[in-house]
Amino acid sequence: MPKYVWFNGSVVEWENAKVHVYVHALHYGTAVFEGIRGYYFDDVIKIFRLRDHLKRLINSAKILYMNIPYTIDELEKASIEITRENGYRENVYIRPIAFRGLGEFGVRGLKSSIEVAILAIPLGKYLKSEKVRCIISSWRRPPNDVLPVEAKASGIYLSSNLAGIEAALSGYDEAIFLDYDGYVCEGSGENIFIVKDRVLITPPVYSSILEGITRNTVITLARDLGYTVVERRISRGELYTCDEAFFTGTAAEITPIVEVDHRVIGNGDVGEVTDRISNLFREVVSGHVDKYVSWITEVKPKL
Ligand code: PMP
Repeated sequence: MPKYVWFNGSVVEWENAKVHVYVHALHYGTAVFEGIRGYYFDDVIKIFRLRDHLKRLINSAKILYMNIPYTIDELEKASIEITRENGYRENVYIRPIAFRGLGEFGVRGLKSSIEVAILAIPLGKYLKSEKVRCIISSWRRPPNDVLPVEAKASGIYLSSNLAGIEAALSGYDEAIFLDYDGYVCEGSGENIFIVKDRVLITPPVYSSILEGITRNTVITLARDLGYTVVERRISRGELYTCDEAFFTGTAAEITPIVEVDHRVIGNGDVGEVTDRISNLFREVVSGHVDKYVSWITEVKPKL
């Protein structure tokens, strides 16, 4: 377990980062959070796209009528501080979370306090396999007029929880949601790309996706490598018959999909386009590509 957690403005011991069972978020899912990776390279932790994640956190809160009582600069400082204080010399995952606390028990919770915590924990691979086998979930990702799925909000993750468990119990690595119109949407915690004739295709924001920061990174890097990237709806049949498919996500990074619903994708192995983009991605997150060093925040771990 980590030694310290940043909680409501200060660094506290892990054991003291506690909340009451009465907190609103526990009952109604009123929390917003982020997942951010820090890569340990060259004796420092290189946090990837920290400010972009914190911007999304603040926007998620805005959608839920929550005012986070810290500025983006303060949250950035706090994320750096908690990463440094824990003294990690390995890859880490940073998890800021803002939630409705005590003050009002009703469903609205507008009078509840807003509490903020930032955790930093060691994290290696997230998906259990280097190449994943998937099923289309029987659960759909909620449409935008049912829940604001642009917000990375705790309550919305009930659908990911159900889909992920369903996939695991069926013997698969991961689930793929369809959107409410029946088009390919995303994984339980990842965006999805397919490759057809060397063109990358990924579902658009209006397919109820979470607009992933890794998705944006991959779109940028793929275009740098000279590939065309199209954001458009993808049908289920197109997914079965594409040349390559992969997930993107902070935790999942770039993970090749080699099977969907008992159909082998491409040649059943990591495709050439996926491989090229993954290699560049690894260079970028390690801070070795000049053009993208601004995406990295270096933290010297405490001795
Ligand atoms: N979709 C969902 C549902 C997710 O939970 C995540 C992980 N945050 C993603 C997509 C990928 O987003 P990102 O690349 O910003 O981590």
